[in-house]
Amino acid sequence: MAGEPQADCLFCKIVAGEVPATVVRQTETTVAFRDINPQAPTHVLVIPKAHYPNAAALAAAEPRLAADLLREAGEVAAQEKVDAYRTVLNTGSGAGQTVFHVHAHVLAGRGLEWPPG
Ligand code: C5P
Repeated sequence: MAGEPQADCLFCKIVAGEVPATVVRQTETTVAFRDINPQAPTHVLVIPKAHYPNAAALAAAEPRLAADLLREAGEVAAQEKVDAYRTVLNTGSGAGQTVFHVHAHVLAGRGLEWPPG
């Protein structure tokens, strides 16, 4: 069923506490933790606790939860005391998505070029 934990999903395991992560924020619906392979001084992933494969699937099924994700990206930036940050939502392996549980990357603390690579 949509939103239910998936046995083979790494981020569902982080939500369940079965895989360790450095959690920086948690709400009723979301978890934010430091990326294990940081690409910037601040690199935090914000995920919904519920399992959706990507941002579009999440927004279609649970628009409020999609909004929670974006609001939490801003809360992470505030907590990290950065005034500029980039939120990245990779969708599909061709775009670099490797974990198919939607996650917003929050990147900050260095110059961020445009267009991104
Ligand atoms: O957008 P993408 O799917 O590539 O992002 C997945 C991210 O999850 C990567 O940046 C990777 O470093 C991170 N990751 C993590 N902890 C894990 C496994 C992956 O932070 N245990």
